[in-house]
Amino acid sequence: MAPFKAGFISVLGRPNVGKSTLFNSILGEKIAIVSEKPQTTRNRILGIRNIKNGQLIFVDTPGIHPGKSTLNQRMVSTAIESGKDADVLLFLIDASAPVVEEDRQMVGSLRGSKGISFLVINKIDLVRKASLLPIMDQYQRLHPFERIIPVSALTGEGVSLLLEEILKLLPESPAYYPEDMITDQTERFIVAEIIREKVIQHSYQEIPFSTAVTIESFEERPEKGLVVIKATIHVERDSQKKIVIGKGGHKLKKIGETARKEIEAFSNRKVFLELWVNVEKNWTRDPRALDRLGYAVHRL
Ligand code: GDP
Ligand code: MG
Repeated sequence: MAPFKAGFISVLGRPNVGKSTLFNSILGEKIAIVSEKPQTTRNRILGIRNIKNGQLIFVDTPGIHPGKSTLNQRMVSTAIESGKDADVLLFLIDASAPVVEEDRQMVGSLRGSKGISFLVINKIDLVRKASLLPIMDQYQRLHPFERIIPVSALTGEGVSLLLEEILKLLPESPAYYPEDMITDQTERFIVAEIIREKVIQHSYQEIPFSTAVTIESFEERPEKGLVVIKATIHVERDSQKKIVIGKGGHKLKKIGETARKEIEAFSNRKVFLELWVNVEKNWTRDPRALDRLGYAVHRL
């Protein structure tokens, strides 16, 4: 029988290269998302894929994003920290986007890591196969990647090959987490993440990095098969609050509806979701506010 293997896999890459999509494609329905410190793990999600002879623990990090604010610095250090402890690092790039200076800098951050690094070329459904060769060539010059794997996180092409290759390189180890590890605390965290994602999807570019979501209450009403969730979306400026709320509350309604549907699908029960928007001036620059809103740098 093949030995059992387990380990941590960190997914790094610029915003929009498809990290979350890949994450979802790998975890699919068999998802068991856990977070050890629910209020402080906004920056780090563990997604566990249990297979017959192994446990693959994925760490989704925010894009390593250059920027000057305290929030950006924390996000960058969290991304780099989680990469340092990983057994395998997936450096994800977008096959349809040109290589920019930012990519070069990010590849540099792989050097301090003890993990084995893979170059994962995503979005191959958007390009001709021939265009992959020069991309591979460029990146190979930047870093000695152990494997280069083209995938489409969207169509799933190449994803099972990627998993096989990861498993080959993971250490022999017993599982780190029980197969069914999902707690109520974790659910709160996931709910906050879903809402935050919807805010980002429905707002302009400048909103994402200055949004936090906190869950004010999470009330089970088993007699009605319902959960009542009250959450606050924190933004930095009045102008952002206006954007999030939209004309006549239209945008906030849309955010609430799409988030509710996803939470219902995830939690298998009906959800009543109430959203508030709060302006917390300059919170991305204030270390105390950052702690309160759940941005702490920590390790695995
Ligand atoms: P992240 O910021 O790195 O987490 O990127 P996301 O996973 O949010 O993806 C950014 C955008 O790229 C979304 O619109 C995805 O639907 C899209 N995307 C991700 N992977 C693929 C892919 O393999 N092919 C195509 N065509 N689009 C993709
Ligand atoms: Mg993402």
